[in-house]
Order: sequence, then C-alpha cells, then structure tokens
Amino acid sequence: MADGKQAGEQLQFQAAILRYVTDSVIVTDLHGTITYWNEGACVIFGYSALEMIGKTLVVLSPDLNVAQHVDNFERILAGHDYAGEWQGRRKDGTTVWLDVKTTILRDTEGTAIGLIGISKDITARKEAEERLCQSEKLFRALIENMDGGLGLTDVNGIITYISPSTTRMVGFLPEEFIGRRVFERMVYPADQEATERLWARVLEEPGKSHALEYRSKHKDGSFLWIEVVGLNLLREPGIEAIVWNYRNVTERKQLTEEVARAKEQLEAILRNVADGIVVVDGSDRLIYANDAVAHHFGLPTSEAMLASSQANITHKHDMYAVWDEWGRPLPACERPTAQAFRGKPAQALVKFQSKITDHVYWSLVRAHPIFDEQGQVQYVVCVYTDLTERKEVEQRKDHFISMASHELRTPLTVLSAYTQLLRERFVAEDRQEAAQYLSKMNDQITKLTRLVVDMLDISKMQAGQIDMAREAVDMEALAREVVESLQPTTGHHLLIEGEARETITGDRERLGQVMMILLDNAIKYSPQADTVVVRMARAGDMLTVAVQDFGIGIGNEHQGRLFERFYRALSKKDKTYPGLGIGLYIAHEIIQRHAGKMWVESNEGSGSTFFFSLPA
Ligand code: ADP
Repeated sequence: MADGKQAGEQLQFQAAILRYVTDSVIVTDLHGTITYWNEGACVIFGYSALEMIGKTLVVLSPDLNVAQHVDNFERILAGHDYAGEWQGRRKDGTTVWLDVKTTILRDTEGTAIGLIGISKDITARKEAEERLCQSEKLFRALIENMDGGLGLTDVNGIITYISPSTTRMVGFLPEEFIGRRVFERMVYPADQEATERLWARVLEEPGKSHALEYRSKHKDGSFLWIEVVGLNLLREPGIEAIVWNYRNVTERKQLTEEVARAKEQLEAILRNVADGIVVVDGSDRLIYANDAVAHHFGLPTSEAMLASSQANITHKHDMYAVWDEWGRPLPACERPTAQAFRGKPAQALVKFQSKITDHVYWSLVRAHPIFDEQGQVQYVVCVYTDLTERKEVEQRKDHFISMASHELRTPLTVLSAYTQLLRERFVAEDRQEAAQYLSKMNDQITKLTRLVVDMLDISKMQAGQIDMAREAVDMEALAREVVESLQPTTGHHLLIEGEARETITGDRERLGQVMMILLDNAIKYSPQADTVVVRMARAGDMLTVAVQDFGIGIGNEHQGRLFERFYRALSKKDKTYPGLGIGLYIAHEIIQRHAGKMWVESNEGSGSTFFFSLPA
C-alpha cells in the first residue's frame, strides 16, 4: 500500500511537471483516441483538455496524408521513434508549424498501450526561414539582372563567384572566371599596374571602398572601359570575401573624351581670336581670360591675368581709370558687365587709362549674361574689341577738323564784316544792284560760317568741351522766334500748334539751334509738300516738342542710326539733298546734355516727325 501511495505521488508529480512544460504533450491509445492533453497543448492549439480527451487527432491535422500516417505508425510500433516537422491547425483556424517527436508508450509489462507525442511550436522560425528564402530570391534576381556585375574573391584574389550579368558585359561565362585570379589576363597592358595597385589597397584597408576605371578585355577581343569598386569584407561574418562591383562605362568615357576634345578646340579658337574674352562669375571672380585680353591690359599671358587676385578688369579701380565714350568717368554700376549681371546684354565704348603708365586703351565692351536653370545670372561673358588704333586715327581727324574750322572762322568773320561795310557804302551811294550782289554774298558767307561753327561744335562735343548755360527759357516764345526767322527764307508754311506756356531751364541759344536744325531738315526733306508743323505739349513733368513734315520719310533700317555723327539716310536717288550728316548729331547731343530725349517716327514716302522732350 505504501508502495502504491508512493507510485501515486510520483505520478501526480510527473503530471504536474508535464502540465507546465511549454511543449505540447499529447497521449493517445493505440486507436488514436486522446487520453492526455497538457497545458502546452492548450496554449499551442487553443483547445482545452476537456474538449480534446476522448477525441482523435484528426481535428488538428486537416491535410493528413493517411498513407504516410499509417506508415509512420507502423514504424513507431516497431520501436523507431518518429521525429519530423508537421503542420497543424489551431482552434481559431490558423496554421501552426510543429517540431514533433512521437514515441511508443508501454505499460509496466512492456506492452504497447499508446503513443506519446511531444511537439514544439516552430511557426516563428518557419516564417523567418520563409522570409529569408524570399529575400535570397530577391537578391539573386537583383544580382542576375543588375546593370553591371558582381564578383567575389578570396584573400588571394581567387575568384569564387561571378554574377551572370557579367556575361552580358564582357562576353565570358561566369565559369570562365571561377578559380582564376582577379584581373588576370583581362586587363589592357597599360592599365595593369593600376589594377595591381587597386588590389593592394583593397586588401590593406578592410571595409573601405576603392574605385578604378580601367580597360578590360571583351570575349570578342575589343576593350571596354570598366569602373570597378572593390570592398574588402574578408572579416565580415557570413561574407568573408572581397566584393567587386563593376560596370561598363565605355560610352560615358567616349562622351567625356569627345567633350574634352571639343573644349580643347574651342579653347584654341578663343585663345587665337583678336578680341579679348573674359568670363566673370557671380562673385565677380575672373574664371576665364584669353591671351588677347591679357595683352590688351598689358599683361604677358592669360594665366598672369587669371592669377591676379582682383577679378573683373573693368573693376580694377586701383589700376585703371574708366571713362565713357564722351570722356565722363564711368561708375562701376553702369559698366556693361554690371548691367549684364542685372540680366540684360549691354555694350559700351569704354576708355581705360592705366594709372601707372597713363596709357590709354579704347574698347568696345560687349557683355552677355549666362543664366542658370533658375534663371539667375551665373556668368557674364565680356568681349573686348580693341578700338585704340581706330580711336587714335579718329582723334587725329577730329583734331584736324577742329583746327581747320578754327582757322577758317577768323577769315570768314573778317570777310563778313567787309562785305557788310561795302554793302552799306553801296546803299549810301544808291548803287542798288551792287548792294544786292553783296547781300547775296553775305548770305553765303553766313551759311559758310554756320557750317564752320557746326564743325567746331562737333569736335567740341566729341571732346566733351561744350558748356551749356542754365537760364529760364520760354519754349513757346523760342519756337515763335525761330519760325519767324526762317519763314522769309522758305516757301513752306511753318505752323505752330498746341500751347505750352512752359519755362524750362537750359541754354536758350543751343535749344534754338536744335529747333533750327529740325525745321531746316523738315523743309529740306519735303520738297513736294508745303507745310511743316511744330507741336508742343506737356505730358507729366516733360515738355515735348514735335516737328512734323510730309516729305520723303526715313526707312526703318536707318532710324536707329540717324543721331550718329556723319550718318546720312539717303538712297542713291536722293543724292541731290545737300548735307554733311552732322545736324541731328548736334541736336541730339544738346538735348542729351539737357537731360532730355530725342527720337523719330517716320514712314518712308509720307513724312517724318522728330520729337524731343525736356524736363519741364
Ligand atoms: P544732313 O541733313 O546734313 O544730311 P542731319 O544730321 O541733319 O544731316 O540728318 C541726317 C540724315 O537724316 C539726313 O542725311 C537725312 O537722310 C535724314 N533726315 C533728317 N531729317 C529728315 C527729315 N525730316 N526727313 C527725312 N530724312 C531726314
């Protein structure tokens, strides 16, 4: 009895342990009816012992392979334990993966009375395995389809793996590489040393990528440019190899070479053009200069110029004084480069004077902005055309004109005085015919004097030596005066329209000269018409004067250049109109010196209107 009690206690003790192990422990009799169901089985399958004892295992294995099951059962009965992985179904319908061990259960006499199945839940491990398998598939697909290729070598550089994509690149099959040394017999002779150096560096610095571009042989005998990146992962557990990544960069290489060649050609052209060329960036740094511009500014080479710290030569305040075409100092903000940085191409005739040598350079400076993708000015390209020699010749000519007109003026004044004196004497002696001849002579002398005065004006304006008085001028009164003085000399009707009781500040004589020039032209260039109209109007704070004729008009192609000196807009058939092409130049200069504007509107064949406006 004492033995029986001991045995009973032991059984209870074992049952208590079994209840709490996390593995599922299920006992069946030889017919498959469940006789024991522990806590672990409850947790894994979701059924309680009460629900399962007396039932069979069928509910737990929906896809039971009966033949397999019978076979297993017989093997177990024969004394061979079963161990394997098995997929079961939980009470909630979900699947559970189990690692199962089944043993035969015998009574004390050794007779088989049932089966004990112990299972471990391995669902999490199974899922992880599945995921790993998926990502392995993915990586394989990636490697096989990658643009370039991937290879592995061991510590001696012996190739252990080559991705199939390599064949697309170089024609050789992966097995033609395996077992050979990396780069062996594949490298263009001139690149051999570089690949050896790469190998050494990769081996020496684990974990660090090193890249190289070299030429590698294709199976067809040609050579390709390959970019290879080597990474030593010999110490990385699970990899323990040197990883080589490579791709074909032949096309890119060829393109870069072509671009470099084109750049060289362009540079040769830029170096040899006569114009000076510089490129300045947004922070006023000189980033390109050719030799011509260096010579222009007294430096031996473009390198010397680029080396000089101060960038924009037009901004070299300390070395050069910069003037505009008319000899006025040109402030930095008005220079073509500065204007181009504000977004618009600009050009100007500029005089540079070295503060060291006093040497003068004349340049036509043309500046073009170059925009970036955001529309901001990134660079300005400046082209300097050397006009020093031309300017010098022009200046000599101007000097000559100035001297000649000056020399002519004195005898003309004397001549005019004597003709007038003589005429008065003839009038007094009542010799009318002779007096009339002298009158005509005097008219011609006056004309000649005006011409000479114009010539003198031009050279003075050219040198910026003309002074303007600043007095109050009643423009309407002035217009009437000019019209009245001209009316007796012409058959045209000179009309004044519009009222403008405006007084402006300026040089009365010079403004009268402007009206005279415009009226003279209006009469001269409208021989078939009989009217010239002067209109005056105030718009805002400007007073505008217009002189309109109904004559031959001016072609569009000439309109932009009319105010240049010596410019005449006449076709061959109009050669009969006398003139020197200086009137409009003088008029324009005078108006500009009054801070005003002058312009023209004209249609060939139907007349012209010249306007000027002045601050009222
Ligand atoms: P000039 O009349 O002595 O040639 P200007 O400087 O006064 O010189 O004028 C320049 C040119 O402009 C003239 O040669 C002529 O072709 C053109 N022009 C000026 N005024 C007129 C006008 N009213 N009608 C047509 N053409 C004109």
